[in-house]
Amino acid sequence: MDRPLILRGGRVQRPGVPHPERLDLKIDTSGRITEIGPSLPVVDATVMDLSGRLVTSGLVDIHQHLDKSRTRRAVANPSATLAGASSGYRAFAETVTRDDIVRRAEKTVDACSARGTVAIRSHTNIEPQTQLRGIEAMLEVRARCARRMTIQVVAHVTSEATSMFAEARDWLKAATAAGVDAVGGVPATSDRPIDFLKLLFEAAERSSLPLDLHLDEHLDPNNLLFEALIEMTRAFGMQGRVTAGHCSALSAVDAAQAARIAEGFAKTGIAVVTLPAANLFLQGRQTSHLPPRGLTRVRELIAASVDVAAASDNIRDPFVPTGSGDLLEIARWTLLAGHFGLDDLGKAFEMVSVIPARIMGLSDSWGIHEGARADLLITDAGDADDLVEGGALDRIVMVAGEIVAPQTRSDLPINRA
Ligand SMILES: [Zn+2]
Repeated sequence: MDRPLILRGGRVQRPGVPHPERLDLKIDTSGRITEIGPSLPVVDATVMDLSGRLVTSGLVDIHQHLDKSRTRRAVANPSATLAGASSGYRAFAETVTRDDIVRRAEKTVDACSARGTVAIRSHTNIEPQTQLRGIEAMLEVRARCARRMTIQVVAHVTSEATSMFAEARDWLKAATAAGVDAVGGVPATSDRPIDFLKLLFEAAERSSLPLDLHLDEHLDPNNLLFEALIEMTRAFGMQGRVTAGHCSALSAVDAAQAARIAEGFAKTGIAVVTLPAANLFLQGRQTSHLPPRGLTRVRELIAASVDVAAASDNIRDPFVPTGSGDLLEIARWTLLAGHFGLDDLGKAFEMVSVIPARIMGLSDSWGIHEGARADLLITDAGDADDLVEGGALDRIVMVAGEIVAPQTRSDLPINRA
């Protein structure tokens, strides 16, 4: 921007504040919010009149797989199970190219951006078939999209690589040296799950990166890693730097055991990410009656003061065949499948905004406060509850004070003076 920008006449809903307030925002030429207040004076600034539109922070998608996105038509999964999706993707991964990954990932980034997402953490496969091809592609996507999306890349050791300890160590070393943002993987698929979990902790310790794991993605109460995760988080001194995705099996243990695990997570600052799209689609297919929802115990974890975010997981691939990139849909599904109450829409909104921003370490730069980057979602909704309830008919998405969506100025619902 060549001049400061004033967003005038909006109803601003700051994270943590239950209702919108009539406030103007001043954004400097570097894209940071420098002033917030009613009726800010205009001195050498561009003014954008929001005419009462709602201003919230941009949405944060803490768990995606951009490298696999948009492969539904190319990868078979006749059983529509996790195992079917994984084996189908392995065959596809033999031939997938870096350019193909970049092209598909960028298309999904655009879809997410248009719907209000400003940050994505993408778990990127490291498996024998692709090795570091996906990581290289996603680091390129991170750079190419930097002006419209904050992307964090997780080195996600998956598939047979979880039982190939020496190779996994080398791939993780190379991925962390190349500049990934977090270490992750799927310990539950390893032939030595506890040892593999330790390998991931060691890689995180060596590189000083946070851990973001697919802790489980099943409903087998006899195959649990919760206690091991709590113990290792303590042993490695990684309190507050570990995120556990899915945790579906927490729903398969009794309430007392689940409460003990939730307490352990809260005490060690382990955050949880629930992924309703993948869980609803993939889990419980072997059950002949009353199939389970497959989600973790979302409400119990929140009640135990665990940070719980919700995210898209897969978009239009053999793991989840649908997905528009709209995190408000995910907030809705979390509310419905997680048995929230009628007054919990704000909680669902926080699970796709302030909570994942905190877990991803974006908090200083994300939000609506002086010094935050102006990554904003501007809509015709009444408030954040309204966004979860029904969405918005028009959305303007801003990153660092620049409009990134809609991409065509003639589609803008407001005039910029
Ligand atoms: Zn995932």
